[in-house]
Amino acid sequence: MKRVAFIGLGRMGHGMAGRYLDAGFSVAVWNRSKAKAVDLIARGARWARSPAAAAHGADAIVTMVADDKASRTVWLGQDGAVGTAKAGTLAIECSTVSYQHALDLARELRGRGLIYIDSPVTGLPDAAASGKLTLLVGADPADLENARPYLAPLSTTIRHFGSVGSGTVYKLINNLMGAIQIAGIAEGLAIAEQAGLDMKLVLEAVETGVAASPQVVRHSKRMAARNFSGATFTAALRHKDAAYAVKLAESLLAEPPLLGRAAVAAYERAKAYGSDDDEGRMIEIVSRPRGAGK
Ligand code: NAP
Repeated sequence: MKRVAFIGLGRMGHGMAGRYLDAGFSVAVWNRSKAKAVDLIARGARWARSPAAAAHGADAIVTMVADDKASRTVWLGQDGAVGTAKAGTLAIECSTVSYQHALDLARELRGRGLIYIDSPVTGLPDAAASGKLTLLVGADPADLENARPYLAPLSTTIRHFGSVGSGTVYKLINNLMGAIQIAGIAEGLAIAEQAGLDMKLVLEAVETGVAASPQVVRHSKRMAARNFSGATFTAALRHKDAAYAVKLAESLLAEPPLLGRAAVAAYERAKAYGSDDDEGRMIEIVSRPRGAGK
């Protein structure tokens, strides 16, 4: 039986860990707060007291945590997974991390004999729970072949961009473009509202017009209705991704990434609504009418 250690049971990780259980893997789970593991334990997962305890005896360690800091903690911190992982274990990092972090972590883990697979994902939590994620992989081709049986329960599509770090580059540009689009639709809708347009008509026109993208269509409805329930992706995570992307852009491009910087600034404000708030709350910031004060 294949043994997986799954670390990070948030909106995405919880469903992903469940996929390994459904596929008949032996699964050890760890999350900073144990409550999120309870139903997985009832379904057969083994609770581990630490990332190190989860990694003990695993063939593959899969992590899905918030950011660089969380990733560093679960891999390399006190009681981190690396402490017990055996040489040759697959280290599959699915969290969205910065490019530099992906490179640094890969180097550290390789130095300890692990095989690093850079594998951020696209897809919402429902796709995570149903094995329909797209994996954005940066890895040596032979390593990817070895990892495929451990990636299959999570995904319908694997896009192999090249060497370690390349999956993260794509993920960051994908989410930067998303951040710019979402901030853009918020401003567009806010203008239409303040100008007194019929918003039902506006939404119909947006959905069928040339500016429509899956992001724009999904968010325009929620924004116009001020429906922020059931957040699937928070403003805090969107801000983090845009900031990582801008940092990468600044290291590669001669011109400052103006739209990217604007999106980072906008999400800096949006996340102040609350760390668990939907990214669509962007509309609440931009829609205050002129003269309404701060
Ligand atoms: P989430 O629900 O906020 O979960 C975050 C996870 O990270 C939780 O397990 C949390 O533990 C853990 N964590 C945070 N800080 C930590 C620390 N310092 N040490 C250890 N664990 C820590 O986020 P999510 O939506 O599942 O996203 C997880 C990753 O997937 C992020 O990198 C995100 O950018 C990426 N992603 C998300 C989506 C989406 O639609 N949500 C889509 C694609 C990619 P606790 O439970 O104890 O707080």
